[in-house]
Amino acid sequence: MGRNPKAMHELPIVTRILELALASTPEGARVLGVDLAIGVLCDAEPRWLERYFRVAARGTACAEAELRVERLPALLVCPGCGDARSCEATATELVDLLRGPCPACGTAGRRLEGGAEYSLESIEIVGGEGIEGPK
Ligand SMILES: [Zn+2]
Repeated sequence: MGRNPKAMHELPIVTRILELALASTPEGARVLGVDLAIGVLCDAEPRWLERYFRVAARGTACAEAELRVERLPALLVCPGCGDARSCEATATELVDLLRGPCPACGTAGRRLEGGAEYSLESIEIVGGEGIEGPK
């Protein structure tokens, strides 16, 4: 279970999410929570996201914010019948699923859609001008 030092996918994600959250935070407000949605294929571990977030948010309006991470499923799409179903498997499990037959029509060679993206879903704010966070 060693960690590959090259696989630092979390830091750019955290930096971007923090930028977005701070851009949506009115002057004088504090952020209580940040909801991050991240595709299952993003090689980012929630505990590392949290750890980087704590460091990156230091001294900002997000310093006390709780980072909540939601995993977004990937979609397996069949080229034969167009069957599309969401899949929350890990990248390794997906390799097998992609090789296997479509459960609807049996065609092999399904392709993958989504699962690699991430987004800032919402932020929870107190104080400031009383402006609500983005939906
Ligand atoms: Zn099919």
